[in-house]
Amino acid sequence: MKKEIHPKYNENVTATCSCGNTFITGSVLPEIKTEICSACHPFYTGKQKLVDSARRVEKFKEKLAAKKELTSVRKGKKVKRAARAEKAEAKAKAKK
Ligand SMILES: [Zn+2]
Repeated sequence: MKKEIHPKYNENVTATCSCGNTFITGSVLPEIKTEICSACHPFYTGKQKLVDSARRVEKFKEKLAAKKELTSVRKGKKVKRAARAEKAEAKAKAKK
């Protein structure tokens, strides 16, 4: 090995998963933190599980709810058109 170009290799590094599982491994990092490991990954567990660390599903649901609320408050084209026609009619009657 060439000197002074290799990082220090730690032999007893604790890898911690967000599921709570920990294991010892080797790495140049002093500590490893992961979001998913072999104890909780759907491929190994065989169970379907939502891996949503970035809150993507939650964010989408929030967006959808906000949109629904907006459309329930907003009037549609038909309603607006009918109101406009009614106004025009009233104007025409007033002119006569
Ligand atoms: Zn895990």
